[in-house]
Amino acid sequence: MTTPGAASESAADFGCREAPVLRERGQHEVFCGLTGIIWLHRKIQDAFFLIVGSRTCAHLMQSAAGVMIFAEPRFATAILQEQDLAGLADANDELDRVVGRLLDRRPDIKLLFLVGSCPSEVIKIDLSRAAKRLSDRHAPGTRVLSYSGSGLETSFTQGEDACLAALVPEMPAAPANAERELLVVGSLPDVVEDQFGRLFAALGIGGARFFPARRAGDLPAVGRNTSYLLAQPFLGETARLLDERGATRLAAPFPFGAEGTTLWLRAAADAWGVDDEAFREAIAAPRERARKALERHREALAGRSIFFFPDSQLEVPLARFLARELDMRPVEVGTPWLHRRHLAEELDLLPAGTVLSEGQDVDRQLDRCRDARPDLTVCGLGLANPLEAEGLATKWAIELVFSPIHGYEQAGELAELFARPLIRHGLLKV
Ligand code: SF4
Repeated sequence: MTTPGAASESAADFGCREAPVLRERGQHEVFCGLTGIIWLHRKIQDAFFLIVGSRTCAHLMQSAAGVMIFAEPRFATAILQEQDLAGLADANDELDRVVGRLLDRRPDIKLLFLVGSCPSEVIKIDLSRAAKRLSDRHAPGTRVLSYSGSGLETSFTQGEDACLAALVPEMPAAPANAERELLVVGSLPDVVEDQFGRLFAALGIGGARFFPARRAGDLPAVGRNTSYLLAQPFLGETARLLDERGATRLAAPFPFGAEGTTLWLRAAADAWGVDDEAFREAIAAPRERARKALERHREALAGRSIFFFPDSQLEVPLARFLARELDMRPVEVGTPWLHRRHLAEELDLLPAGTVLSEGQDVDRQLDRCRDARPDLTVCGLGLANPLEAEGLATKWAIELVFSPIHGYEQAGELAELFARPLIRHGLLKV
């Protein structure tokens, strides 16, 4: 299989599956899992996310999500004060009252998530028990589930993993004699989901389902006849629970760039026995569009070095994409958590010798970054400004999660997200 940036590669140039990993467990600078609500509430259109938290949580959501422009918002924060916890019974009563008032006003809410946070007052409340109690009370109109979006977890994308993991037990069981079904796991913008749906149909893989679905009541069935593709690399717990329900993961790189998308689709095509010619024909036009779109950004990116601080858990697939399709040079690829099994096919494609790091000790990593002086540094908002002040070009990792970046049609925009800060930095230096 030829790829835009891999024409002259030899197998020895790539492969980090067995590479040593620098593990650091010091201070780390990442957003918390509440952030996932920003894209999840757009995806599941009749769900509501009620954060059980503090004023800090409310402020984070307000500033991260921007001004609320919806007439009917679909997330909110129930702020618990110290005095609410004078007795836990009071806190539960208060929570029941808040939920009762919300659902009286908003009968359109079919699925309510109670989202836990990290203040110690909240940790003391058993939210899963509260969700069960409230679900019984508000059935059949509204289902209530809970998960943690706490900043004590590894990274902000873990919020999506926790949310989807809470949904897996709710998925109906597929009958034992059901036809084999393809499930795409991970929240994708609707437009990207539609593109993938058309590609699967063109490959003869009918009826592919997406999880999470756009409507809360439209949960796909799962069972031994389910084969699933992960669309995001940060869904370890969700995948584990799907495996427990009998589903089979199709191992593949993630669908970023022309090559990643091709290999991801190929994994499904192989499982469905699609022959080579039919596969090539189905993907030829969009793959060519992706190749051309990437070409436009090659000049800005080729030969440039890039350093990833651990943030979104997208770091390994993105480094692979940038190295293989745009000839960038990953210096260090840091990730909050390296899921070796889910990333195995990605690691095979990373340039040999790339430094891999997991977790963070932020001061030590900043020292390594300053020593390397990369052309571009991908990091969280908190590190970007200081690094820019030191003359380094930076890219905010969180933007990568908020932008549509999967699939052939988005490959050019994904490359542009990295090219833009380099071009701006070049202009500022002139
Ligand atoms: S969950 Fe924790 S880290 Fe996140 S905003 Fe609330 S207090 Fe801060």
